[in-house]
Amino acid sequence: MVRYRINYILEKQKTIPKQLQEAVIGRIKTISNMNTSERKPPQSGYIHKNFYNNDFDIRVSTVPTIDGESVVLSLMKHSEDFFKLDDFGFTEKNKRKLEDAMDRSKGFILIAGPAVSGKTTQLYSILNHMNIDKRKIVSVEGPVERRINGIMQVEVNESLGFTFSNGLRSIMNQDPNIGMVIDVPDAETAEVATRVALSGRLVVGSIHGYDTIHTIRRLLDMGIEPYLIASSLSCIIGQRLVPRICEPCAKSMPASDDESKLFEIHNLIEVSDQKEKSKIGNFRSFVTTNKSSKVAVVKGDGCKLCNNSGFKGYIGIHEVLKVDDELRELILKKSSIEEFKEYLKKNEFKTMLYDGLSKARDGISTVDEVLKAVN
Ligand SMILES: [Zn+2]
Repeated sequence: MVRYRINYILEKQKTIPKQLQEAVIGRIKTISNMNTSERKPPQSGYIHKNFYNNDFDIRVSTVPTIDGESVVLSLMKHSEDFFKLDDFGFTEKNKRKLEDAMDRSKGFILIAGPAVSGKTTQLYSILNHMNIDKRKIVSVEGPVERRINGIMQVEVNESLGFTFSNGLRSIMNQDPNIGMVIDVPDAETAEVATRVALSGRLVVGSIHGYDTIHTIRRLLDMGIEPYLIASSLSCIIGQRLVPRICEPCAKSMPASDDESKLFEIHNLIEVSDQKEKSKIGNFRSFVTTNKSSKVAVVKGDGCKLCNNSGFKGYIGIHEVLKVDDELRELILKKSSIEEFKEYLKKNEFKTMLYDGLSKARDGISTVDEVLKAVN
């Protein structure tokens, strides 16, 4: 069965006769540089192809099931525009914190999130932002998902013993200014990354994690020396992707009691402020909403453009934590999550949940989707 996932929704496209299954999958594996004789282990590969004058990067993954291999192809348009930092929905304040860390010649910038939270795309956008002639950038990836001009991309090969940590160590002999690790897989790699950052280079990486402080705690739990983390880490970003409301079918309506309560807890309730900020929504419902003096939220009604889902595309929600002296002290003391949380509270840190709710309030996504993404 061939299915397309378009704008969030999976739809059956066609069925291919069972006797052709292996041949079709074999062909896909050939053009994505996979091992065609192996059917048991999961594999991942890559295709770069031009369709209708558009270059596409296609990430391919196979997994063996009891009915044969299952193949997923993820299509991404290969265009420089896609990689702009601004496409990720950073608030000005968060963007400034990140840019500040990127402009330095050393340090360790880490992006944390679960699978499919846009970490890799975010990393590429950071790299692209820094891709200038005067900085040599080397990235260690497994596998390379997108190709970027001007960056040395190295692919790890576990079966040859060329692991992430080996890769990171060996690229340092190539004297780069910036090293990147996509999906730091283990404590060893994380430790090498901190040491590389301490040797006067900038390291950017992504890691599987819940949010900023849980990621710091996780690095400590991995057994990495606190001084290595404290002195190398410059900035951590917590990230999720939430679906963006489809603008053509967006309608505004009064927020539910639960939604209003959440806005209130997070100080996002001032209606007048919202009216100016909101870009989407029809005038008539805004009038009603203002009369009822409730905050307005926006929902997609569903239309042809969004396959009736009410959503089109995604936007990132973030929290960006700059590591300052006080936080360094807390890391050195191997503080608990509660102690880190106290620090955040004292410093009025804006969490991912806050960022998401403010985007829901501004009519970019919905409260439901934000809660789903953050929990
Ligand atoms: Zn729509």
